[in-house]
Amino acid sequence: MTAERPVGKPVLPSIPDYRSDYIDLRLQEFLDSLGAAQWPIDCVKLLSRMKDSDQYRIRIGYAGEEVSDGLDAATNYVQGMYQIVLSRSKIRYPYRKSSDRRLNFTIAHEIGHIVLEHLLVPNHCKTKEEIRMEDLEADEFAARLLMPQKLLYSFNYYSVDAVASFLNVSNTALRMRLIHLGAAHLIRARRVKSCVRCGNTRFSEFAQYCGVCGQSTAQGRGGIRRIYYPDEYPIDSFKRALVCPKCHRDIRHGNGDRCPFCGTCIFNFCSGFFDSGGSVCSCANPGYARYCEVCGRPTYYQEINCLKDWQDCYTIGMNR
Ligand SMILES: [Zn+2]
Ligand SMILES: [Zn+2]
Ligand SMILES: [Zn+2]
Ligand SMILES: [Zn+2]
Repeated sequence: MTAERPVGKPVLPSIPDYRSDYIDLRLQEFLDSLGAAQWPIDCVKLLSRMKDSDQYRIRIGYAGEEVSDGLDAATNYVQGMYQIVLSRSKIRYPYRKSSDRRLNFTIAHEIGHIVLEHLLVPNHCKTKEEIRMEDLEADEFAARLLMPQKLLYSFNYYSVDAVASFLNVSNTALRMRLIHLGAAHLIRARRVKSCVRCGNTRFSEFAQYCGVCGQSTAQGRGGIRRIYYPDEYPIDSFKRALVCPKCHRDIRHGNGDRCPFCGTCIFNFCSGFFDSGGSVCSCANPGYARYCEVCGRPTYYQEINCLKDWQDCYTIGMNR
């Protein structure tokens, strides 16, 4: 009996389906065990978190030059303890350029050997082919850990280096991953205007500032992230709130500028609008705007704390 492969599922010529599913399963358990996993992942920090937790019994060692057989790293399982040895000559941290970021993949690969329980059977009991297959699996684990498929679809590929650098992987690792997923076309896909700082993709025609983070649009709209920050309060075409942002009551039938129940202003005005000082800006901003799109000052909704911090929406915590 053959089950049809779901559309979009990666084609991995060398790893059998049941092992591919196993990698998914163990990766998911691993991410769950770490609590809120967030991208981008820095494996140097991840490893030290694993070392400190009771769940993974890990020791980290450093070898002077190369580990053995010209490898960057190796992991052994001795007396119930994992010993990861990293080659000192390969450690360039924090990552500055593409080649430095190879370390991140190397560590993710070693974590893969641990999580996939390859090391519970010692190497001398395996064939060369079995060892080769385990290395392929560890590579696949590392690729899925560092570059989740969903996330790869959410970027603007202004440059491979910019996206690879965001993900802490080498440019080659990112290209290989896209090719394996049959998604190399993403590199040439249409870009969406997005804020270079917060990834916001929504701008009014007249916007001089990003409504989400307040960055000047003169900084460019060539961000690599594409994030839709929703209206936190529905507004009508006159930019009147339909639900009071403060007391959350239905105010669509009210009159005037204020909530009839609590007196909150129903427009997301620029805070400059309320300045008695003089420099008046009377822009009524969209429901997602933390900052005035005309002058960059905080908006009224932002000042009365009715909007989520954009940084909380920017952080990527997700399951593949
Ligand atoms: Zn390996
Ligand atoms: Zn922004
Ligand atoms: Zn109200
Ligand atoms: Zn303003």
